[in-house]
Amino acid sequence: MTSNPLPSGDWPILQSGWVWLCGAGPGDPGLLTLHALNALRQADVIVYDALVDKRILEWAKPDATLEYAGKRGGKPSAKQRDISLRLVDLAKEGLRVLRLKGGDPFVFGRGGEEGQTLVQHGIPIRIIPGISAGIGGLAYAGIPVTHRDVNQSVTFVTGHDQSGETPSSLNWPAISQGSQVLVIYMGMKHIDPIAKELLAAGRPASEPCAVVTSATTPDQQVLETTLGNLTADLAASGLTPPAIICVGRSVLMRQTLDWMSMAKGIPPRNTDPLGRGRPAEAS
Ligand code: SAH
Repeated sequence: MTSNPLPSGDWPILQSGWVWLCGAGPGDPGLLTLHALNALRQADVIVYDALVDKRILEWAKPDATLEYAGKRGGKPSAKQRDISLRLVDLAKEGLRVLRLKGGDPFVFGRGGEEGQTLVQHGIPIRIIPGISAGIGGLAYAGIPVTHRDVNQSVTFVTGHDQSGETPSSLNWPAISQGSQVLVIYMGMKHIDPIAKELLAAGRPASEPCAVVTSATTPDQQVLETTLGNLTADLAASGLTPPAIICVGRSVLMRQTLDWMSMAKGIPPRNTDPLGRGRPAEAS
């Protein structure tokens, strides 16, 4: 459908031979940016990843070609090099190319590599940021990624490296000690060694954790647990990726900020999750 209105303004034109690298957000189509919608309305070909919500693709031009370049869903993996070179070929054919990625293209999304390959081949690009699952997905679970009473920093971590193993380059003790809140992407597979590293580095077993799967989609599920019980509770839950794992006391804020429950009719609960003992607005 091309009838989705954009507010009046000078929206950029996706020109022939260009590639726009665009974030689609974590799922809920309402989290798409207006620039992304503008791109969808113009692209001749859309190369999209597994984590892009299919409802978003319905906003493409009716005659746009949709090309799947994902790595999930039982289909053969497209190699990163092949995807990048495919984008080069499509642009060289003179098409208006939209590369649509889940979340934000530059957050564990290989947008940097794809953009660099395109530029190396003389293809002009535009970057359209998106809402990353590690921020927007947690917000949909009622977890603020920063909260003044909890954290002055947040660390985004990937649960596996290019070889698929727990990243050996990560300094887990430094990460554990350096940030009150950790947001782990792609952490399901290696949650056991990750949790052990964090505990060994001194994070308490009682520390609150949340696992948010398929965040912002109709299938969203949230598991609340503690660092000590994380692996066992996750295994028992049967939850499946994609998942964002949050380690830190901000998870407790869910008790009052779980707005999705309110949307389902559960009245607001006025609790004091962090034990502040004074009104939230007091400094
Ligand atoms: N560029 C994406 C991240 C891509 S890496 C972003 O900015 O969000 C893929 C990982 O992102 C998944 O393994 C999972 O950890 C996380 N992820 C992406 N979408 C998600 C969703 N809807 N719910 C939970 N986790 C998600």
